[in-house]
Amino acid sequence: MTKNTQLILDIINSSDDHPTAEKIYMKLKEQSSKAVLATVYNNLSKLHEQGLIRKISVEGQPDRYDNTVRHDHLVCKNCGSLTDIKLNDLTPQLMEQIEGEFLSYDLKINYICPICRKNGKK
Ligand SMILES: [Zn+2]
Ligand SMILES: [Zn+2]
Repeated sequence: MTKNTQLILDIINSSDDHPTAEKIYMKLKEQSSKAVLATVYNNLSKLHEQGLIRKISVEGQPDRYDNTVRHDHLVCKNCGSLTDIKLNDLTPQLMEQIEGEFLSYDLKINYICPICRKNGKK
């Protein structure tokens, strides 16, 4: 793993705000001033392929990145904010119904976040 790859992985693992590639790039620049955005994209796809990070896609928004500790997400339909939520692991139930192995699952629960609700969005 190159120095930049390690730095990018550290940035993602120490963030709890689901950073976009651009945000990761800004943070990487603070530590590695010669880094370019293309490096970030390359490393992100490599890390994702290796299963070291999670990619979260929300329609109409840039992809965001997250650590691989098992958790699910609440997605605000209005502002697109992501919030972590801990649900029971569905793996045993899925294995039973699929009759065998499956690759992974990624739950997104749509809702209207408290801030949007306060602003009267539905
Ligand atoms: Zn919202
Ligand atoms: Zn998360």
